[in-house]
Amino acid sequence: MVNETYPWLESTLLNIGQQYQQGRLHHGLLIDANHGMGKLTLVKQLAQHLLCTAGQDRACGQCKSCHLFSQGNHPDYLLISDREANSVGVDAIRELVAKSQHKSQLGGNQVFVIDQSHKMTESAANALLKTLEEPNSQTYLLLTTTSVSHLLPTILSRCQIYKITAPTLQALQPWLQAKQVNIDDFAIAYQDMGQAPLCALELLADDYISQRQAFLNEFKQVLSGKICAMEFGVKAEETSLSFYYIWMMQALNKWLQVKSAQRQKAGFNHAQLYKIMDLYQAVLTSQKQNGLTGVNKKLNYQQLCHKIAQVNK
Ligand SMILES: [Zn+2]
Repeated sequence: MVNETYPWLESTLLNIGQQYQQGRLHHGLLIDANHGMGKLTLVKQLAQHLLCTAGQDRACGQCKSCHLFSQGNHPDYLLISDREANSVGVDAIRELVAKSQHKSQLGGNQVFVIDQSHKMTESAANALLKTLEEPNSQTYLLLTTTSVSHLLPTILSRCQIYKITAPTLQALQPWLQAKQVNIDDFAIAYQDMGQAPLCALELLADDYISQRQAFLNEFKQVLSGKICAMEFGVKAEETSLSFYYIWMMQALNKWLQVKSAQRQKAGFNHAQLYKIMDLYQAVLTSQKQNGLTGVNKKLNYQQLCHKIAQVNK
């Protein structure tokens, strides 16, 4: 079998497996899920099942086909996946199309996987269209994407789309317990990573919680004027900038909530409330700028810290 199974993918795996067994599975499938949800694992598990000769509700792991698949040697399987690449080019798709025009070597299905299919160039997507439209009865195309809106409508209309939604924390608990992961820590990383379970796990393994706490402690001192915001900015690690923004906004949000709750009290300092809002807006603007191409991200972040120092005066 391919890797471990993820509980939040089980229902999709089962659903597709059943449709296959009942002979009504669409020949073009598109798995749509955010980064860090295990899409590639899912399509590999599906591919193995579609190639397996045992006829069970999932890949048997025992037959010749399953063995070849596990060894990465299945002649009727092609995986196009390069997570580092900026695009999926036409040459890779042409290879797929050529292979699909030959009969399967083991006499069963042929399965083609295009990971991150939204990265297909326009000519790659166009080269795929005919195969997607008129696949032979033993050919399955499994596509993954994090961004349906970047796929041509002509591709979308030829695929059955399966949207994988983020599991609730509660649903993840047995899985986390089996992995002996601290659930409170996971909850923080999970929230910060936009509910991507695998990304959250990766963060935790990378000492995320203590880094976050150290940052928040220091940021609190910046806000209270005990640490100079400029000095705080100079120490920034470029690879962590995206997290700094998230953490800053969380801290400011929390502060805003505390202050807002005190609004009705006599002698309430409205100026402080506006100051927090100003800071929040500044962080948000800087975060947006950091997402643009051609921006010097560290400098941009340091300018934010400069702004914080000014607002804080
Ligand atoms: Zn098998």
